[in-house]
Amino acid sequence: TVGAVAIDKQGNIAAATSTGGMTNKLDGRIGDTAIIGAGTYANNKTCGVSCTGVGEYFIRATVASMVSNLMEYGDKTLEQATEITIKEHLTQLGGEGGLIAIDNEGNVNFSFNSQGMYRGYVSEKTNEKKIYIW
Ligand code: ASP
Repeated sequence: TVGAVAIDKQGNIAAATSTGGMTNKLDGRIGDTAIIGAGTYANNKTCGVSCTGVGEYFIRATVASMVSNLMEYGDKTLEQATEITIKEHLTQLGGEGGLIAIDNEGNVNFSFNSQGMYRGYVSEKTNEKKIYIW
């Protein structure tokens, strides 16, 4: 997967996700990546989310929109919402993977229950650039 989330100066949030799918996938399989709310989601009120992992679980758990819904209707911060979604909800279903996310104030967050997830960010807000290679 290659995913990206971003916010512009007007507060518009975008999320994009690209994937080759799972190894040995069945012909015609559609993973979570192309399904808005499952592997990809953006909402200016809350956050942008891009996911990687075993798509069937991300579809079942509606992972990307769940993060946004927890913020909008559950009063959670981005960090709380991503942790609940991945570490509790997805994990309880038996799913493995993770996500990158940005909220409407430009805070970034990563959450995963897989062994690792390459990730990085650039923030004009905090003037930080970071890349994690595990
Ligand atoms: N989520 C993708 C899929 O299930 C796989 C990936 O992480 O790239 O198709």
